[in-house]
Amino acid sequence: MTLEAPATPRWPRDARAACAFTFDLDAETLWMARGVHEPVTLSQGGFGPVEALPRILTLLRTHEVRASFFIPAWVAEHYPDAVRAIAEGGHEIGCHGDEHERVSELPPDREEAILIKSVEVLTRLGGKRPVGYRAPAWQLSPATLALLGKHGFDYSSNMMDRLSPYLHPPVDGRALVEIPVSWVLDDAPFFMFTGQRPMQPPGPVLQAWLTEFEGITETHGVTNFTFHPQIIGRPSRFACLRELLDYVRHTPRIWIASLAEISAHYRSVTK
Ligand SMILES: [Zn+2]
Repeated sequence: MTLEAPATPRWPRDARAACAFTFDLDAETLWMARGVHEPVTLSQGGFGPVEALPRILTLLRTHEVRASFFIPAWVAEHYPDAVRAIAEGGHEIGCHGDEHERVSELPPDREEAILIKSVEVLTRLGGKRPVGYRAPAWQLSPATLALLGKHGFDYSSNMMDRLSPYLHPPVDGRALVEIPVSWVLDDAPFFMFTGQRPMQPPGPVLQAWLTEFEGITETHGVTNFTFHPQIIGRPSRFACLRELLDYVRHTPRIWIASLAEISAHYRSVTK
């Protein structure tokens, strides 16, 4: 017997495939969650909202791209102007924990309290209730998906099992959309320096991302890039992001959209 490839969705404007540029604005929490409180290490986190974010927002505006930003509540409260600037740029803001804690290690009541807090903080500062959830470090607890359904989320962007969106099994009659990710399309595994492994030069990483984008486009799926302003914002890597955006923008029939837009579209064509 032959196995058929999974069905792929139709995209708006006769596009062949979709592409999303997403940014996890972890700032200091990326390090705090690892138990690091040393000032120089933490200052790498501060580079994200302070130094890198304004340039990233300018780049997105220049290319007329609406992106998705996932922001821990702690970061939102410490950098409220960054949250406002992201919202004013027309970008989506989604939940990403409080202090980047791994929910896979938390009891359900604690996980739920963090979720409620992050919705409250991001709604207040961003002016709009978040509909998307990305778990810190992409680790879910057994309770996560049900909690997202209970609190009215539209989509999760965590799983790594597909190249196209799909629906999770319904809970209380409503199914979450999943918009899958991959470590391959994340800047952290290539560039994040923890003192234990060498950093990769940007050129070969850019080439790998372009090849992955072309391959996912051939399958009519979603290329879901995940960047961290503190990592991708260094000038040598920012040049790589600029080139990537330029390449995707000039590839025919690609729908560049936020994850909220992709989720809403997927839901509308999937019944
Ligand atoms: Zn993160």
